[in-house]
Amino acid sequence: MFMKRRQFIHTALAAVPALAIPRFASALEGPASLSDVEALTGDRKEILLKGADVKDFAARLRGELLLRNSAGYDTARRAWNGAFDRHPALIARCSGPADVMEAVKFATSNQLLLSVRGGGHSLSGQSVCEKGLMIDLSQMNGARVDPVARIATIEGGALLGALDREAQAHGLATTAGTVSHTGVGGLTLGGGFGRLGRRFGLACDNVRAIDVVTADGKFLTASAKENKDLFWGLRGGGGNFGVATSFDFQLHPVDPMMLGGELVYSFADAPAVLKFVFDYAREMPDELNIDLGLVRLPNDNRFLSLDLCFSGGIAAGEKAIAPLRAIAKPVADHVKPTPYVKLQQSADDSLSHGKKYYLKGGFVQQTRDALIDVVIATIADAKLPVVHAVSMQTAGGAYRRMSPTATAFAQRAIEFNAFVIAIWEDPALSDAAGQWARGAWKNVEPHTHGFYVNEFNDDGDRMKATYGVNYDRMVALKSKFDPGNLFRLNANVAPAKRA
Ligand SMILES: Cc1cc2nc3c(=O)[nH]c(=O)nc-3n(C[C@H](O)[C@H](O)[C@H](O)COP(=O)(O)OP(=O)(O)OC[C@H]3O[C@@H](n4cnc5c(N)ncnc54)[C@H](O)[C@@H]3O)c2cc1C
Repeated sequence: MFMKRRQFIHTALAAVPALAIPRFASALEGPASLSDVEALTGDRKEILLKGADVKDFAARLRGELLLRNSAGYDTARRAWNGAFDRHPALIARCSGPADVMEAVKFATSNQLLLSVRGGGHSLSGQSVCEKGLMIDLSQMNGARVDPVARIATIEGGALLGALDREAQAHGLATTAGTVSHTGVGGLTLGGGFGRLGRRFGLACDNVRAIDVVTADGKFLTASAKENKDLFWGLRGGGGNFGVATSFDFQLHPVDPMMLGGELVYSFADAPAVLKFVFDYAREMPDELNIDLGLVRLPNDNRFLSLDLCFSGGIAAGEKAIAPLRAIAKPVADHVKPTPYVKLQQSADDSLSHGKKYYLKGGFVQQTRDALIDVVIATIADAKLPVVHAVSMQTAGGAYRRMSPTATAFAQRAIEFNAFVIAIWEDPALSDAAGQWARGAWKNVEPHTHGFYVNEFNDDGDRMKATYGVNYDRMVALKSKFDPGNLFRLNANVAPAKRA
């Protein structure tokens, strides 16, 4: 089975060397390409990479190496979050683990600033670096399912839609995020909340093996049997330990038809609905997931939306959702039997690529009435011509049943993952939107402890709070596998200082 696991055949990529030669010729052999390449080291010192070395690196890859003047460079460097516009010195479009190993070795030997791009959905834009080397995994997007073993093998640059679709073709699924164009790689390494999470745990809890290239350029498989310490850290430790080239996920039989969709309430009813949801979340069945959003649109329309998904059958779902329908009369009720794959795509358009997003978030350990007042005031006071929202994803259930020390993801007892977000398009609004989000977060933050490393970066005390009982073990593991902090563009756990 494990031999099969790594057999991804990219027919398009198989043709790359022939196609790439003329492209390399224009990017690397033209007069401009002979010059050295300006770049930054990990600690942001200016360096010049010798043109000959860069050319040699390109020749060692099966995928393409893109420079600023290469065709496709601007498309490859584009992040989902349009608030960021960064220019890597080099983009290695890896075709497989061998390319990733070459790219990591090139970064290490030149002490280059390195970023790793899986699905490109980093909210803080960190997967696209400025003047460093970006390892681009977007061509490594294969997904295959072994329906007998119920294992999905997903490459490091694949999107969640591929996992959901291939698994559902066999009536199987595992926890994935709630927007299908998000990357499997980043989401899983940092944790992975989703519509099935209260039933099956975080995405990372369902991982059985990860192929990874570590900072020394070595290819390892991490699982419960091999490289166990690395396996522990990769599940929740974010991108701190290496480049994941492939994941094996445990799948579960689920009915493809689920009861789901949005229930929308007026802003006037929001306090009562929030109060009910905060209480109900403690006792509702694990099959029910609620993502709530208190929203104010640029046209001044305010409302509370509950995005619901019940995965345990339609009749049981109607019963579980009935108390929510009874709190107040919804202004819109879109909850109906819907294929799971469709539910997973339902927010794809509203959270589309290229808009500008500013998010700050944290974990709510225990909801209290005071939090209701804070989030209502946050949205009541919002005035900019941007989308303002406070969003909260339910936790509990299987998330909570896992021991905090079983994986690097320590925050098992939380009730909600909360964040404030501003969404806009006009660059003239960027400063004001960011200011609003930072101000709003100041009010919400005291109700949180720790944060979700996939949504936010911080250092110092908040990182310690986030990893809690696991923090020292994370530092030890980082010091073992990445003592030079090559993988630093993430919610970074710094290695211990070398004596
Ligand atoms: C629209 C949207 C919806 C989301 N919904 C959810 C949700 O429902 N649940 C949830 O838990 N999270 C959700 N998130 C947060 C999401 O988990 C993070 O944004 C995550 O980092 C996205 O992964 P990516 O591969 O697309 O990102 P990228 O931008 O490609 O990578 C982000 C970081 O992850 C690391 N990384 C990515 N791939 C690899 C790899 N293969 N190997 C090593 N490191 C890697 C790198 O450190 C990189 O900087 C959502 C984000 C967005 C933008």
